[in-house]
Amino acid sequence: MFLKLKRDIKKYQSKVSSNEGLLNKENNSPMNIISKYNLENFNEIMGSEFKGNDDEIDGKELEDFKLSIDHYFSLYAPDDEEFREFIKIISLYLTYIAKKPLHPPGIIFSNGSKVYRSEGSYVCTGKNIFIKDELSLCRYCVANNP
Ligand code: SF4
Repeated sequence: MFLKLKRDIKKYQSKVSSNEGLLNKENNSPMNIISKYNLENFNEIMGSEFKGNDDEIDGKELEDFKLSIDHYFSLYAPDDEEFREFIKIISLYLTYIAKKPLHPPGIIFSNGSKVYRSEGSYVCTGKNIFIKDELSLCRYCVANNP
């Protein structure tokens, strides 16, 4: 799976490079934290150092995961197809390869919930709330409830 993700995400290289210059590394707004996380994970995928697990994933689960991302984008960014496909690759990488949460550690949501790292795993204090949303991506996220 990893090699396919790497192949698929390559086409975004020039776009990511041009956006990288616009990123304010000191800005810790949720949107900027997410953009920095996307960039970090893009670079991780493109880097050759990755030596994680590369298991085969159940096809039905994978399809459901992608449908859930489509659903999320249909709500929040229905016209941004290119970005949606980019995020799909990053999300698959985070969940199945890197085993990192879908939202970045350090983020604080508008309801005060946060994501952080604790003793080698990831915690999301909002998971038990957000998982109730229709087709919630939290179902796949590696972050745990506290
Ligand atoms: S559990 Fe849900 S809200 Fe929390 S980091 Fe994962 S996807 Fe985001």
